[in-house]
Amino acid sequence: MIKNLHVLVIGGGAAGLTAAIAAGRNGAKVTIIEKLDRVGKKILATGNGRCNFTNINMDLKFFHGENVRFAQGILQSFDVEQTISFFEYLGIAHKIEEGGKVFPMSDQAASVLDVLRYEIEELDIKEQCNSEVVSIQAKDKGFKLILKDKQTIEGDKVILTTGGKASPQLGSDGNGYLLAKSLGHRVIETIPALVQLKLKAPFLKALKGVKFIGEAAIIGEESILRKEAGEILFTDYGISGPPILQLSRKAAEGLKNKKKLYIQLDMFPHLQWEELLEMLQIRLGYQPQKALDFSFIGLLNKRLIPVVLKEAGIKNPQKKCETISIDEIEKIVDQLKQWRIEIVDTQSWRNAQTTAGGLDVEDIDAKTMESKLIPGLYFAGEIVDIDGDCGGFNLQWAWSSGYIAGEAATLL
Ligand SMILES: Cc1cc2nc3c(=O)[nH]c(=O)nc-3n(C[C@H](O)[C@H](O)[C@H](O)COP(=O)(O)OP(=O)(O)OC[C@H]3O[C@@H](n4cnc5c(N)ncnc54)[C@H](O)[C@@H]3O)c2cc1C
Repeated sequence: MIKNLHVLVIGGGAAGLTAAIAAGRNGAKVTIIEKLDRVGKKILATGNGRCNFTNINMDLKFFHGENVRFAQGILQSFDVEQTISFFEYLGIAHKIEEGGKVFPMSDQAASVLDVLRYEIEELDIKEQCNSEVVSIQAKDKGFKLILKDKQTIEGDKVILTTGGKASPQLGSDGNGYLLAKSLGHRVIETIPALVQLKLKAPFLKALKGVKFIGEAAIIGEESILRKEAGEILFTDYGISGPPILQLSRKAAEGLKNKKKLYIQLDMFPHLQWEELLEMLQIRLGYQPQKALDFSFIGLLNKRLIPVVLKEAGIKNPQKKCETISIDEIEKIVDQLKQWRIEIVDTQSWRNAQTTAGGLDVEDIDAKTMESKLIPGLYFAGEIVDIDGDCGGFNLQWAWSSGYIAGEAATLL
């Protein structure tokens, strides 16, 4: 390592804090320059305030990007085991939940940030908050950063970890792409991911707040692009819930390419179509004098019943069960198992949990995260064109790429 090496980390998020710790542990002088009044604000919001910080079922299939294989080596060089040990050493005992999701035993995202900040203090790393970098100048030796208030900071190496565009209220507004672009880096078009979907349907206001456990699939050009199961929630603009967030990247991609897309809902995934038909026939036969809509009470959420029947083309939902035709029952089964609603958009960046797209990995060294264009400049985290599914994969990418960049920046 260069004697008195000064590493400048731009952005104090998950990737930046890890990079700073790795560089500090290797003996470098480190300064974190953070735009907001404190570091790690997004970490506090993760996992609904519980921070799903990694996932034991790590696999490249949970990651995306134009060249997703780029992430493989980095995710292996600082892997899940090392991540759990890294946090264990800092004080975070962990627990594993459904789907391999790893959370701190304390169930508090704040504890993750607390221990990272403790380590930063122990390593004498400087946190310079309320400081937005507006320009990076590469000099013959080292770098000069210009801040919004015209202040300048000089250092030997720069690690750019300004995040993507998701949740700009937590600091990441995409300005990091402009900084990288000014140094010749290319940016793959960005789209919001892990975000709710806006639907085109007249009944959304009536269904706002209705939840059900079921399956959702994205349909494009008559084929299923991806399917996910779990709790699905109707909102006044469209649809939300963990399965929808998982599907949203596919939706955003398709919409960007001007494809007509639908969400297809299955409210009875545990029953085959024929089984549901039989079940309904028996149910409607119990009390043939009952009104059709009333016969669904106890089977479907009350607010769903009139909408489902209307969408199935039932003109008079109050007609007696004994008057319903087999054709009408089949239409109701179709509605319950293959309810298609057109997707018109995703929710905005403000609601997105991550960014698909970002810095083109072709310009970045896959072993060190160093720029192939500007020696001494490194990247990590969401700013790079790698994004993960829900479940701890995005933070894992931030920790892995951050740690590797921080270590590499301190090696000659
Ligand atoms: C609500 C929510 C919940 C989430 N939950 C999870 C979860 O449970 N598990 C999971 O794996 N992932 C989760 N994610 C995704 C994950 O949090 C992010 O992918 C990850 O934190 C990205 O880390 P980062 O360091 O790359 O960027 P960020 O965390 O966005 O940090 C970037 C930092 O750079 C600063 N900055 C930006 N520009 C400048 C500048 N010019 N100068 C100085 N500073 C600047 C910003 O203020 C910010 O502090 C969630 C995201 C959100 C929004």
